[in-house]
Amino acid sequence: MANILEVKDLRVNFKTFAGDVQAVRGVTFSVKKGEVVAIVGESGCGKSVTAHTIMKLIPTPPGKIVSGQILFNGEDLVPKTQEQMAKIRGKEIGMVSQDPMTSLNPTLTIGTQLGEVLRVHQGLKGEAAKERMIELLKMVGINQPEKRLKQYPHEFSGGMRQRVLIAIALACNPQLLIADEPTTALDVTIQAQILELLKELQNKLHMSVIIITHDLGVVAGFSERVVVMYAGKVVEEGSTEEIFYNAKHPYTWGLLKSVPRLDQDRSVPLVPITGRPPDLINPPKGCAFWPRCEHAMKICAMYEPPETEVSPGHRVSCWLNAEEVKKLTAKAVD
Ligand code: SF4
Ligand code: MG
Repeated sequence: MANILEVKDLRVNFKTFAGDVQAVRGVTFSVKKGEVVAIVGESGCGKSVTAHTIMKLIPTPPGKIVSGQILFNGEDLVPKTQEQMAKIRGKEIGMVSQDPMTSLNPTLTIGTQLGEVLRVHQGLKGEAAKERMIELLKMVGINQPEKRLKQYPHEFSGGMRQRVLIAIALACNPQLLIADEPTTALDVTIQAQILELLKELQNKLHMSVIIITHDLGVVAGFSERVVVMYAGKVVEEGSTEEIFYNAKHPYTWGLLKSVPRLDQDRSVPLVPITGRPPDLINPPKGCAFWPRCEHAMKICAMYEPPETEVSPGHRVSCWLNAEEVKKLTAKAVD
């Protein structure tokens, strides 16, 4: 399958009084047509900034794309103007974000907000727009759509507001949907329902989806591939199966230990990763994870680990997997 999105060596900085925050430090990954890719990591690892940069939604200044390419269907989005991006956003790339309360305008009815998207991107008005709005609300599982269109965001529950946002994001049949922590603000049962809905819609509409989450539990059974980010970099990437059963990066091991798993004995305790993500104004030398890594070696604090492909499509950046280190340890054992 062809790639719909290729992000290549993307670097994004934010100017602050204390110095430049290097939020995204050379991120490379791709998404195939119809594929679901999850970007996983703790908050502050650069996953949301990456998503917002793809949409060109980071405020510039203080944000700045320092280098890299974002190829969408082969066309680079980096040099595009906001005017050009406005045509792509919503129409070809849709986005659902974290907080359904702040993403909807509280002073406008759902019908007005959904109608605006249809008018701007598809030139739909009057009856045609209304028909499409009803169809969209039905598609995301909202009952009595005609009545609901006249209501305001506060008349919807959190889960229902998230459904409205999904309807808005899908209004123009985007080829790619970016869902940034789409279930974080919701309680567990509603989370499961929203994920189920996203899965169902992805299947039905054959879109590509990037799902961003700090919770690996969300990823299982939904994404085909997982990209693990730490301190503004991709540290591991592989099929969801590889990441769950054959992870190679100590940070991924940490993430896996901190989520409950159905295939595991309940008595296995959940362990959070100790320590905090590094300051991205002055990221640590070498591997950014070394101050928190139980497996850190001298070399980790000195040089950045190279990327190794451990099996087809499974990439990892950690000295434990680097051929150089494996040879050295083999020698030491001899
Ligand atoms: Fe740990 Fe070293 Fe691997 Fe970094 S490179 S994750 S510090 S073992
Ligand atoms: Mg975020």
